Amino acid sequence: MAEPHHHVIIGSGSAGFGAAKTLREGDPDCRITMFTMDAIPFYHRYRLPEVFRGRTDWRDLLAKPPSFYEENGITLRRRCRVVDVDGSAHVVSLAHQETVPFDSLLVAAGGRAYLPENLSGHAHLIHGFGSFEAAMRVYNDLPRGGRVVMIGGDMIGLDLLLTLLDTGYRVTLIVNAQTFWPHELTAEQRAPLLEALRGKGVDVIENARAVGISPQNGGAPARRVALDDGREIEGDVVMAFCGLATSVEFMLRAEVDIERGLLVSPELQTTNDAIWAAGDICQIWHDGEKAYKFYHGWKNVRVMGQLAARNILGAHEPFDVDVEDRIWVDEDGEIQSTFWTRKP
Ligand SMILES: Cc1cc2nc3c(=O)[nH]c(=O)nc-3n(C[C@H](O)[C@H](O)[C@H](O)COP(=O)(O)OP(=O)(O)OC[C@H]3O[C@@H](n4cnc5c(N)ncnc54)[C@H](O)[C@@H]3O)c2cc1C
Repeated sequence: MAEPHHHVIIGSGSAGFGAAKTLREGDPDCRITMFTMDAIPFYHRYRLPEVFRGRTDWRDLLAKPPSFYEENGITLRRRCRVVDVDGSAHVVSLAHQETVPFDSLLVAAGGRAYLPENLSGHAHLIHGFGSFEAAMRVYNDLPRGGRVVMIGGDMIGLDLLLTLLDTGYRVTLIVNAQTFWPHELTAEQRAPLLEALRGKGVDVIENARAVGISPQNGGAPARRVALDDGREIEGDVVMAFCGLATSVEFMLRAEVDIERGLLVSPELQTTNDAIWAAGDICQIWHDGEKAYKFYHGWKNVRVMGQLAARNILGAHEPFDVDVEDRIWVDEDGEIQSTFWTRKP
């Protein structure tokens, strides 16, 4: 009897999880192995700000109970980092030496917060927020009522910022080109949005760049941020929300084309016949615009994972979902965005 097809998925976020579920629904007999660097099974990252509303038990964030994976014959390998993909031999290598062969590979490794070049030397003084563990570190390091200095303020950061304000914390926002990313706005379109943030008590700093971060002790707030106009700002925690950098380093030997993300056809296939990509990591060909485009945001990403799985199983469906891109201030002075999936 022929061996069942082995589908390997790198990443257990929205895209990877949606793909695993769809593969299982479409083929009851295939083998599915999903690798993630996370310690926790799939949860919606957009729910992470909820730790500030008291949801500090990771079990409350899970999209599915851990038993789901066993019941559906999905092997979930947690805390496993893929370091290489051999695109000719069809083998994935893990950091701990193991190699795993695949018949099809879906890369759904997402991205991490992009840090502007001039701040990369200060990364150890900047708190992340991309995982449950990182969110809990911020929660634990921020004194009640304390101040966050937020550099950038993309829509992921602003989601957190609004929760921080709601829960009694203070925020200084240092505006840069990535503020409101992935929305692309003119200065005129930004002005009322920044005004709405000021109206909520955010200390908004425009026309100055963060150029240095230093630690402080002796009872002072834990961080001091130097601006290029000579000012210095204090905060208990410094965070940077400046858009995403894709996690593609391990794909360099995979014989796939890479620009900023993995380049895929509208059917989400890379330039290697056995490898697909979905989610924040991929740039999809748009024939009308003759360009590869990112489609950020959870609503796009979820559809991509399911679509890639159907195509891996033999369908030929193109990606044609592009969620409306709009941000505005409503009549109550609240910022609304089609990107957000906020829960009160
Ligand atoms: C705080 C926060 C709030 C957000 N709010 C919103 C929102 O309101 N609306 C919205 O649309 N989007 C929001 N987002 C963004 C949304 O969560 C992402 O678009 C979505 O998670 C991307 O899904 P993905 O499956 O592509 O990748 P991810 O969810 O980033 O998952 C990537 C997976 O790949 C794994 N991985 C990466 N590299 C490797 C490797 N080398 N080896 C093994 N595994 C690897 C990771 O461990 C992880 O399992 C928010 C994100 C955050 C962090």
